[in-house]
Amino acid sequence: MNTTGLEVCPRVFLSGVMGQEIISNFDFRSPNLKSKIVNRKSQTSLLLTAYCLLFTALYGCAISHGVYHKVEEGQTLWRIAKAYEVDIQDVAEFNDITDMTQIQEGQMLFIPGSWRVLKVEPYRPPGSGDTKIAPKKNAGKKRSLTSKHKPFSEESEGRIIVEKWRFSWPVKGAIISYFGVRNGKKHDGIDIAAATGTPVKAAHDGEVMFSNDSLRGYGYTIILKHKDGFFTVYAHNEVNLVKVGDTVKRGAIIAKLGDSGNASGPHLHFEVRKDRKPRNPLFFLP
Ligand SMILES: [Zn+2]
Repeated sequence: MNTTGLEVCPRVFLSGVMGQEIISNFDFRSPNLKSKIVNRKSQTSLLLTAYCLLFTALYGCAISHGVYHKVEEGQTLWRIAKAYEVDIQDVAEFNDITDMTQIQEGQMLFIPGSWRVLKVEPYRPPGSGDTKIAPKKNAGKKRSLTSKHKPFSEESEGRIIVEKWRFSWPVKGAIISYFGVRNGKKHDGIDIAAATGTPVKAAHDGEVMFSNDSLRGYGYTIILKHKDGFFTVYAHNEVNLVKVGDTVKRGAIIAKLGDSGNASGPHLHFEVRKDRKPRNPLFFLP
């Protein structure tokens, strides 16, 4: 149940990788250094490590902050996101909500990026005027808001994007740690437990951007680049079976699962990133 090992500095780590990618695509650095990156791939991991260390030194590990909002009667996900001025998709992914009608009264929602709990005006069905909603006898009891308030016409303005088709499971096993904030720590992926040596498979066609064990805490790690700006990360491997520059097909075995790095037991730490941003893998897996 390790969630600490990979939290050494995932954002900084990936920033290094994405930084390298951006440098490859946009020639805003010295041609000299760019050609070194392109022509001497063996140096890539060293460069990435250097980036990580540099970013760490400059900025430290950026710990995500936020508050917990207790859902009250009539509050919709759309209204809550709007009140806090956060992306409804972020709220959904941080709270494993793939269906926005399924939030419940009394539920605690993590609101990423917010510093304080705000008042959220409840949804009032058309014709109800501005009268306050009378307290329910069963106030506080968890129940779905779906049946009473559906349809929320206002919610058509915000919707949750779920792409279950985009990736396939890299390994079958129990999820022992989810995406989001757990016990005050940000977890940028999911942890899937399986036996040491279990094949780890590419979640989609892609190119190997990173394959090394040079990042403290991560152990043997692979990063694949996919179309549409997506990346997937596979960490704590026992051994990596691909190298930087390889192209892999969806389902290809790229590593063997292990507990390398800072892991308390064998599991795969799996991340999905769109551009630089960590995304909830469960929104992209069948
Ligand atoms: Zn993890």
